Amino acid sequence: MLLNHCHVMPEGVFNKNRPEEGTLQHLNKIMEELGIEEAVLFAPFTYQIPEGSYRCNQWLWELIRKKRQFYGFVTVHPLDPDALNILNEFANKGFVGVKFHPAIFRVCLDDSAIEPFYAEAEKLNLPILFHVGIHGWQVNCYAPILLDKIAQNHPRLKIIVEHMGGYEFFHQALAVVRNNPNCYAGISTVLQEDYSWYIPQSELMYLLRTVGPERIIYGADFPYNGLLRIKRDIEIIRSWNLSQEDEENILGKNLKRLLPLKSHSKKNGK
Ligand SMILES: [Zn+2]
Repeated sequence: MLLNHCHVMPEGVFNKNRPEEGTLQHLNKIMEELGIEEAVLFAPFTYQIPEGSYRCNQWLWELIRKKRQFYGFVTVHPLDPDALNILNEFANKGFVGVKFHPAIFRVCLDDSAIEPFYAEAEKLNLPILFHVGIHGWQVNCYAPILLDKIAQNHPRLKIIVEHMGGYEFFHQALAVVRNNPNCYAGISTVLQEDYSWYIPQSELMYLLRTVGPERIIYGADFPYNGLLRIKRDIEIIRSWNLSQEDEENILGKNLKRLLPLKSHSKKNGK
């Protein structure tokens, strides 16, 4: 299993009182406990490592460069003057995707100034995982429907519609994923009723029937979700009684197919 959507950060950043929370060590324990072999890790945000975007990505790269079971995603504000260089440098160093959080970055998904960023990710073959689901700030700037135009303008760009918009925007997210074969349904933090982006089972069953299990990607949202949450999520997916193949697809194989893994093996000098 390849576990998507894991935020890792230095000790004490996520929780001052329990400094191990949110570290790679902490994630490793969860993975061992649940028998998860591999994970996609997002570089910290600049509010977690304040020395700038370059440092955030470099920190993650140094942490995982010798560890084949981890795949890095670039985290950078798309309008950072250095954004395209950072994309290129870390794609070269073996990172395999991009984390994009419009509400944290305070940027509108359809801002035309981001076009070069989308084009560069498309050229580098880096999938972009977009957080969509209410998260403070101006919701009209990251309504999932805005992803439709990006998907249409960049047909080779792989887009993960994370949280599927949550309950509030599920139907917009569904419209985008159904309309665009290059879009994938991210189902992290949607499966349990008290989650911020909970989506009822009946809607998820409709997603399964219409989009199909080959375009659904589970994610942990570690460390916001810890061991018990992740364990329960996986139990819920297993309770859907899918074929083993469909289940494995949702639990990592779909995601793995999206990653430009040639560059990933480069980090080990192969
Ligand atoms: Zn996240």
